[in-house]
Amino acid sequence: MLGNLGKNLTKTMKKLAGMPIIDEEVVKEVVKDIQRALIQSDVNIKLVFKLSKTIEERALKEEPPKGITPREYIITIVYEELVNLVGSKAEEVEVNAKPYKIMFVGLQGSGKTTTIGKLTRYLQKKGFRPAIVSTDTWRPAAYEQLRQLTESMDVPLYGDPENKDALDLAKKGIEQFKKNDIVIVDTAGRHKEEQDLLTEMEQLSSIVNPNEVMLVIDGTIGQQAREQALAFNQATDVGSIVITKLDGSAKGGGALSAVSEIGAPIKFIGTGERIDDFEAFDPERFISRLLGMGDIRTLLEKAEEIAEEDIDTDTMDAMLSGKFTLKDMYSQFEMMNKMGPMQQVMNMIPGMGNKLPKNASQVTEEKLTKYKIMMDSMTEHELTHPEVIKQSRVKRISRGSGMKNEDVKELLKYYNVTKKAMKGFGKRKMSGPLGQMMR
Ligand code: GDP
Repeated sequence: MLGNLGKNLTKTMKKLAGMPIIDEEVVKEVVKDIQRALIQSDVNIKLVFKLSKTIEERALKEEPPKGITPREYIITIVYEELVNLVGSKAEEVEVNAKPYKIMFVGLQGSGKTTTIGKLTRYLQKKGFRPAIVSTDTWRPAAYEQLRQLTESMDVPLYGDPENKDALDLAKKGIEQFKKNDIVIVDTAGRHKEEQDLLTEMEQLSSIVNPNEVMLVIDGTIGQQAREQALAFNQATDVGSIVITKLDGSAKGGGALSAVSEIGAPIKFIGTGERIDDFEAFDPERFISRLLGMGDIRTLLEKAEEIAEEDIDTDTMDAMLSGKFTLKDMYSQFEMMNKMGPMQQVMNMIPGMGNKLPKNASQVTEEKLTKYKIMMDSMTEHELTHPEVIKQSRVKRISRGSGMKNEDVKELLKYYNVTKKAMKGFGKRKMSGPLGQMMR
C-alpha cells in the first residue's frame, strides 16, 4: 500500500538511524527527503512545507525527553507530524442510536457500492445486523449490484428499480427498517449536473436524518480529494470518510492528507477489490507502518524507563567545566550507547532490527572500537589537547593504529563538532542527559 511513499520514508528513517551525528545538516537532509517523498505522493505542497517547517523547528529546538537520544527523538517528531497530517487518532463507528443510520455519499466510480459491502461485512462481524436502502435512481444497475452483494451476505435490502424518486425510496426504506440496528443508505454518484447531485444529497440528508454521513473518495485522485470533500460537506454534514483504492495508488498520500480540512476523520480505507480488503483507519498504526516501524508508542514508553543511573557524573562535570577532551568524548559515546535504546528501536522496526546489517547501534559500537584503537596510539598530551593533532601526527596515529588517515580525521571531526555543539551548554538548562550535545 502506498508503495513508494512507504519505501521512501522507510529509507529516510534508515538513513537517519545510520547517521553518526545528528546536527542541523542531517535534520535538513531528512526534512528534504520527507518533502520529496510526500510531494511524489501528491500531498499538497503547502501542507508539505508546513509539515517540514514544523519538523525542522521541533528537531532543532526541542529537547529530547529523558532516555531518548536526539536521533530517536527526530524519528518521533517525524512520526508525530505525519500522524497529524492524516488525522490524529482512530475513530470508530459508534452505534449509539437505533436504528443507527449511515448515509453513503460519493461520486460514481469512487467505490461506494463496494465499500457498502465491505462495511456491512465489517459490522456483521461485530455482531450488528445492517440493512441497506438503495436510492440510486441514476445508474440502472445500482440496485442489481446491491442485490447481488447483499444476497450472499444475508442482508435485507430495500429498493425499487421502477421508482425514480430517490426521496420517496429513502422514506420508504427507512420506514421498512426502523426496527433494525443499522441502516445503510446508498445514494446516487452521478447526475446530469454536479449541482443536481449535491442538491439531491442535501434533500436526502434532510429526509434520512442520518446519524453519520460517510463520504467515499477514490484514493487515486490524490489531492483533488480536497475539493470533492468540501463539495459534499457543503451539501451534507460529512461525518466520516473512506478512502478507497489505496492498494497500489501512488497518490494515496495526497488523498489521505487532503481531506483533513473538512474536519471529518478518515474512518476506513479500501485496500483492494475483495470484500475483506478493508481496514479501520488508525493514523498512528498507519504511519508506523508507512515509516517501516513497529509500535512506536511502546518504544517511547521503553525509552522513558531507561534509568538515569547510567550517567557518568565525572564526565558530566568535566564537560560542564568547559574542559572537554577526546577522553571525555569517548566516555560520552560510551554513555550514549548505554542510555540510548537504539538497539531496541531497531528491533522494533520490522525489516531493520534483523535485516539491516549495520544498524545504528552496531555502527556506534564499531566506531567506538575504532576510536579506542586510534586513541591508544595517541599520547596523553594529544588526548587532552587534541588541537595539536595536525597532519604529521595524524599520519603517525593512523600508522600506529593500523587505520587510515581519514579515520583519524573523522574522529577529530566528531570531536570538534561535539565540542562546538557544547558551547553554551552550561548556559542551558539541562534536562535530557546529553541531549543537546549530540544535536
Ligand atoms: P461506485 O460507482 O462508487 O459504487 O463504485 P464501485 O463500488 O462500483 O467500484 C468501482 C470500481 O472500483 C470497481 O471495479 C471496484 O472493484 C473498484 N474498487 C472499489 N474499491 C476498491 C479498492 O479499495 N481497491 C481497488 N483496487 N479497487 C476498488
